[in-house]
Amino acid sequence: MGILQDRLTAGTVLCAEGYLFELERRGYLQAGAFVPEVVLDYPDAVSQLHRDFLRAGSDVMVAFTYYAHREKMRIIGKEHLIEPLQKEALRLAKEAAAEDKSGKVMVAGNICNTNIYLPDDADSHREVREMFDEQVTWAAEAGVDFMLLETFSWYGEALLALQAAQQAGLETVVNVVTHSTGLLRDGMSPADACKQLADAGATVVGMNCCRGPATMLPQLLEVRKAVSCPVAGLPVPYRTDETNPSMQSLEDHHPQCCLPADMRSFPVALDPFVCTRYEMAKFARDCADNDIRFIGVCCGGAPHHVRAMAEELGRQPEASKYSADMSKHYSLGTNAALLPENQEFKKSL
Ligand SMILES: [Zn+2]
Repeated sequence: MGILQDRLTAGTVLCAEGYLFELERRGYLQAGAFVPEVVLDYPDAVSQLHRDFLRAGSDVMVAFTYYAHREKMRIIGKEHLIEPLQKEALRLAKEAAAEDKSGKVMVAGNICNTNIYLPDDADSHREVREMFDEQVTWAAEAGVDFMLLETFSWYGEALLALQAAQQAGLETVVNVVTHSTGLLRDGMSPADACKQLADAGATVVGMNCCRGPATMLPQLLEVRKAVSCPVAGLPVPYRTDETNPSMQSLEDHHPQCCLPADMRSFPVALDPFVCTRYEMAKFARDCADNDIRFIGVCCGGAPHHVRAMAEELGRQPEASKYSADMSKHYSLGTNAALLPENQEFKKSL
């Protein structure tokens, strides 16, 4: 049994993601192409976010190679940088994991949708597999603990990623994604796709990205029923609902919304929809109650979400030192040292 399977047998594995969105918000990454050039341009920014997630309780440092694949590097005219970028991202994740005092933080290699996969085009399958193979090779050389394969809306593409990781002998988490239809683009349900990926030998199967907790959890429960292996769930922390089930479909109708009429809230104006830390803690609880063991948060997630999820699992990560204690608030607090006049003032806050 590998290390990932071992950890999942013992309990929940918490995995912080959302590097793209968080580094975009911090001013280090361009929305649109979403290529993590920051890895080479500002490696300290990537290291800092790794540390933030580590201290918030993430059990996994995910190498920030998301969308640093050949198709994306080609779009920005920097295909020659793919290998140094991938290797540096792997190095930064390993370096951050090594800072963990418990020595238990795992490092994941990360590959994702290529955007060139076409179901009936064998040439595209070959090209996709080559893209996966080179990334898996670099990850294996770096000594990752497992491969996180994610955001696949085509079942066939997820299977190619799984096969590439298996060839390198690595454990795998394979996550599919569903958009507004609730199905993969092949027309498969996530439960059926995950069942087939589990039968094909994935260590963990599940879903990530695109859907918030409210619209992902029902699908995860179907996946849970369909497979016997561990299940993964890493939603985006946005308040999706039946009408707008994906983050891409969210519409801001607030009277103060200043978005131009032809612009969506996705991806850079989703702020009004962000889940609170309490909502993400509830998601962690729902997963724990339903035997969904590889959990986390995807695009939009931030360290406060991760810390709340860790605490809901009964953990006290380093950042819990600064978890809220409102008893000490000057007006809303209950501490004996507070002025009663200020406590009375809370009605007027
Ligand atoms: Zn995501």
